[in-house]
Amino acid sequence: MNKKLIIFTDIGDTIIDETTEVRREKFGVVYSAACLPGAKETFLDLYRQGYTIVMVADGLEKSFHNTMEENGLDHIFSEWVISEQIGIEKPSPLMFATAMQRMGLTDADKHRVIMVGNNLARDMVGANRFGIRSVHMCCSDRYPVKASGPEEEPTWCIHHPEELLPLVDRLEKQLEGAAEQVC
Ligand SMILES: [Mg+2]
Repeated sequence: MNKKLIIFTDIGDTIIDETTEVRREKFGVVYSAACLPGAKETFLDLYRQGYTIVMVADGLEKSFHNTMEENGLDHIFSEWVISEQIGIEKPSPLMFATAMQRMGLTDADKHRVIMVGNNLARDMVGANRFGIRSVHMCCSDRYPVKASGPEEEPTWCIHHPEELLPLVDRLEKQLEGAAEQVC
């Protein structure tokens, strides 16, 4: 059975460890990078469980192809929504609206979409303004870890990628329970 929960995810410091990124020039294409500990296993597990995973990331298309292929994660994404293609970065609602549209989702599906990301000002603000729930992947202190206002408040906060698994499991069960009640 298809899972009801749909996972939008950032990449940098959410799946990829940005401190390992190899570029030939500053702000250029990322040629190589390693995953955060546990991130690859977590996302592969979610994919194998049947969750729909959509990349919603700021950066250059080539960087994401390079790093996802290198880490064996390029097959897990149903769609790749990348700021270079869209012409604007998160928190723009266009990034999230494009992800919804490409997946054939409407406003009625927003309750079953979560956005996972490390960046309060981009990922959490973007999700909050767009009207979807958010998971703050708070694995490092390279970015602010405390919300500066209500728009930056995540719905949930996790400190290790693996913590996504029980959270997703719980949310999926809630959605399945709600669907049974309607039927
Ligand atoms: Mg990021």
